[in-house]
Order: sequence, then C-alpha cells, then structure tokens
Amino acid sequence: TSEPFDYAAAIRTIPDYPAKGVMFRDITTLLGNPRAFRRTIDELVQPWAGAKIDKVAGIEARGFIIGGAVAHQLSAGFVPIRKKGKLPFETIGMDYALEYGQDRIEIHVDAVEKGERVILVDDLIATGGTAEAAIKLLHETGVKVEAACFIVDLPALGGADKLRALGVAVRTLVA
Ligand code: 5GP
Repeated sequence: TSEPFDYAAAIRTIPDYPAKGVMFRDITTLLGNPRAFRRTIDELVQPWAGAKIDKVAGIEARGFIIGGAVAHQLSAGFVPIRKKGKLPFETIGMDYALEYGQDRIEIHVDAVEKGERVILVDDLIATGGTAEAAIKLLHETGVKVEAACFIVDLPALGGADKLRALGVAVRTLVA
C-alpha cells in the first residue's frame, strides 16, 4: 500500500441500471481482478491491522464478499446482516426507509455479544440509510461499532456524514 491504486478504473459504471437515470457502480469487475481485490481488502483494513476486532458485520449481498475477506484478514468472526426473513434462527431487526416504502435488516440474536468490537462492511454507501440502520441495530445489542468501511462513497448523497453523526469512523477508498 505504497503507491496509489486506481480503484475507479477497476470499477465499471452501468448507466440506467436498475432504473433510468441511475449510474450503477458495478464492483464485480474489481472483484474479478486479483490485484484489485487483494489491494482493496488490504487497504480497507489497514487502520485496524493488529487491532482486536471481534466481528466483521457485512450487509447483504455484496457486503458478504468484502466482509468475509476483511474478517479473515483481521482474524475476526463474520456476521451476516440480511434482508428480512432470510435468517433461520431467532432474529432482531431494524426497519429503515427506502426511496419508496420501507425495508428491514436482521441479525441472529446470538450473532454478537455485548461489549464486542465490530466493523461494518458494505461495497458502497449512497444515502447511508442501509448502513445507518445496521449501526442502530448493532448498537441495540450493546457492541461497539469501531468503523464502517466501504469501497465506494457517493459523497453528494451525504451517507458518510450520517454515519459519523452516530459516532462511527467511516473509511472509503474511492468516490
Ligand atoms: P444507501 O442505503 O446508502 O442509500 O444504499 C447503499 C446500498 O445500496 C448498499 O447496500 C449498496 O450495495 C447498494 N447500492 C446502491 N447504489 C449502488 C451502486 O451504484 N452500486 C452498487 N454496487 N451498490 C449500490
């Protein structure tokens, strides 16, 4: 992690997906690039190298891919944060607003323990609504959310500031 890496060049942008006017940042090209994928994980976790992190929580579905690799790198456990109804055991959840309507994310009741140090991971932060709900859900369990890490930030949408207002450090690699 000495010379800068061009993350933007490793990410593909798809116009009008999934709806007209949306510029979708497609990170599958980055995941498929061995050098880019390794570099992404190394650089995301760099501030916590050697830190005692108990769990990495990843948001469905792309947050599972990044979060699994991050958890391995930090020798932490992995916790899936899923859309409602997907987890088999008893869950606790948090509702959050979408542009049209509402959604809910859930974790297993025994996924984390009070006092644990957790890092939240997803591929991209836009409005921050999803990650904000995830942090509120984790806070309800009594864990300390040390940071929220994303490959891509869309800063015009203010998501990172929303998370910082909750007292969580935010790390992103490309805007
Ligand atoms: P937010 O809740 O911050 O508005 O939206 C972030 C969530 O939507 C993340 O789970 C992220 O994966 C997904 N998302 C929104 N826009 C994009 C995009 O352009 N590219 C990718 N890969 N994911 C997106």
